[in-house]
Amino acid sequence: MLAETQSRWPKLVPVGRRGSVLRPSSAAPGVFGVDLTAGCAHSCVYCPVSISSRGDAGNERLPFDPYTTEALAAALDSAVADVRTIVLSPQTDPLPPLGPVRAESARVAQLVLERGLDLVILTRGRFSRRLIQLLSAYPQQVRVGVGLFSLSKPLVRELEPLAASPYGRIRDIRRLAEAGIPFEVRLEPLIPGLTDTRANLVPLFRKLSEVGATRVVAHYLFLNPKVQAGLTEAFAGLRCKQTPAEMFADGPKATVGTIGLVRNLPREVRREGLARVMSWGAEFGLEVTTGAAQNPDLPRNPAPAAQTGPSLRRRSPTVISGYPTPPPSAPTAAAIS
Ligand code: SF4
Repeated sequence: MLAETQSRWPKLVPVGRRGSVLRPSSAAPGVFGVDLTAGCAHSCVYCPVSISSRGDAGNERLPFDPYTTEALAAALDSAVADVRTIVLSPQTDPLPPLGPVRAESARVAQLVLERGLDLVILTRGRFSRRLIQLLSAYPQQVRVGVGLFSLSKPLVRELEPLAASPYGRIRDIRRLAEAGIPFEVRLEPLIPGLTDTRANLVPLFRKLSEVGATRVVAHYLFLNPKVQAGLTEAFAGLRCKQTPAEMFADGPKATVGTIGLVRNLPREVRREGLARVMSWGAEFGLEVTTGAAQNPDLPRNPAPAAQTGPSLRRRSPTVISGYPTPPPSAPTAAAIS
């Protein structure tokens, strides 16, 4: 099984960087993204920045800048703009199962934190003990988003073939909580009848509560033309009652961060589904919110209850929303890997 998975990992190709290492976010001033690779190795079928389409995994080449840290140091030294927060990474996952990328991500994280900047890490990968140790030394500067939508291995493997196993991510969530590192779970993508069901979410919420999670940011799937063919195949493999085209037929168009123009699910599907998900989360003491950027046609979330410890949302409400993380994820109340 391991050999089969390894054979599907892309081949890293070291490259020099042409453009600026700092990518400004449209979400807030002072927020910049840093990517280490051009595309993402995790190959999530719903994600437009995934480097592989279904069936050809293992033959891809993944451009990788092994000197991202040096480029970032130089960019920060010469930055004209006020740089306050670095998001690692808006267009890729910083913690794929590729040693050089993981090592470079840790170097970037160390540089950012030692410079006194805030660091946001979004991932569906695994944290090393060393990275957890580093992040735990800077709890006031760090915010982590862990993408996870199910404990079901078959479901996760079909939709996120090379991302970390759900139980591996659960172990990391426990370690983040134990280390006092501020984090939230990115419940993405919710898919009607597939990942937004009580049967799927109650076991996940129970486990998240057990390992110390308190905040969940939930977003329904967007339909981007780049992923429609792969999603159609995945839905068929999962015996989904509808095709993506049918599911999104009556949904409005929306523009989301750097993803661009997408098709959203119909408003009532999202409104009713999110209300159910929030109430199920509350059964386990989880505060479930969604993003206004992803749901411009829904009412804003109610104000969050008072909490102890730093919150992704309280510190920077729209910080991540200019980025496509499911992609991978996108930010809270108004939305990691
Ligand atoms: S959703 Fe995140 S982890 Fe998956 S392919 Fe996209 S960027 Fe990578």
